[in-house]
Amino acid sequence: MCERMLGRLARWLRLLGYDAPLLPEPPRTIAEDEVLLTRRLRLQGRPRVVFIARDHLEDQLRQVVSELGLAPDPKLFFSRCLDCNLPVEPIDRAQAAGLAPDYVLDTAQSFNRCPGCGRIFWPGSHGQRAAQRLTAILGLEPSDAD
Ligand SMILES: [Zn+2]
Repeated sequence: MCERMLGRLARWLRLLGYDAPLLPEPPRTIAEDEVLLTRRLRLQGRPRVVFIARDHLEDQLRQVVSELGLAPDPKLFFSRCLDCNLPVEPIDRAQAAGLAPDYVLDTAQSFNRCPGCGRIFWPGSHGQRAAQRLTAILGLEPSDAD
């Protein structure tokens, strides 16, 4: 769970495939299987709270991956909508027609659609390249597979 002021970090965690809801208010409780990312100093040191001190996205991501011991899996990149945090659903080329640019329809191998907002994602999109840069920043294996 990300607090409202960490919207950009939440989008990047979603890009990596993590369930990263953005909260309008701090939660009353944090469940066993949840973690709160916050910039509120008064929450620092509480169980299952990661206090984000740095301003830069790359630093924030490094911190979260390191403190939570995450191992982002390139296969899960773009498995969630960056805007809605919902798992995206695979669609076929015919369904993507009219929703993705023509050059993408001709070249992309697969397509996913967000059931919430209808946004289309495909391998090789700008965000995917960004994700690959990100894996380099985080010292992960490059995702040349697929
Ligand atoms: Zn969406």
